[in-house]
Amino acid sequence: MKNGLRRCIASARFFILYSSFFIYKIMQVDIKWMETWFDRFNHDYFDGGLPRPRFALSKSRTRLGSMACKRRLKMGRIQYYDYSIHISNYYDQSERQFQNVMLHEMIHYSIAYMGLKDTSSHGVVFRGMMDSLNRKYGWDITVMSSTRNVKVSEDMKPDPNKERLVLALEMADGKRYLSVVNPHFARRLNAELKRVPQIKKASWHISTDACFAHYPVVRSMRGRRVERDVYDEKVREMKQITF
Ligand SMILES: [Zn+2]
Repeated sequence: MKNGLRRCIASARFFILYSSFFIYKIMQVDIKWMETWFDRFNHDYFDGGLPRPRFALSKSRTRLGSMACKRRLKMGRIQYYDYSIHISNYYDQSERQFQNVMLHEMIHYSIAYMGLKDTSSHGVVFRGMMDSLNRKYGWDITVMSSTRNVKVSEDMKPDPNKERLVLALEMADGKRYLSVVNPHFARRLNAELKRVPQIKKASWHISTDACFAHYPVVRSMRGRRVERDVYDEKVREMKQITF
């Protein structure tokens, strides 16, 4: 009885890990992403009252995000201007984690922009807004932009010349896909490819190209669609292998 229960818990835990691998796709953000989500959150949570600040990407290891502005003295009063929000791509995170970082910085921005006084940088006003967003809309914004439990982005790792196993697929409809495959699953995947009639041509390659650092390492037939010229260029450059 006791053993059975323990086994059950163990397999449940495995299932959660396994499924979260697929659900929480890791990603990196760009300026377009920042604009899109800033506008959306501004509309939904800040009454559309915040003008777009400057957006910038950083490689900060210690801060997942930051908000900055300049100040000047005008007519005896301090004026804040030139607001910017920075988000770090040092870590691979899920989209939801990046959204929480964006919201954290937007709370700072909103407090500064509206000229509110807080008791400290994450004081009573900040926590009030944070708690309200978390409670009402289910966000997980925290006061710490803690970098524990966050995975260092692949291309930040010191080994850029890492060899990867790349599968190139040309489909009957002309679409082309590239994917980085976990070598332990390559043979099985290769056998599966032969049973898919939509595949016109499949080839396997070894590559040290850093462009593959952002690709998820797959065990099944999942790939990233690429344009024909990119595909041709990569396939030409990579060392082809056969099984
Ligand atoms: Zn903060």
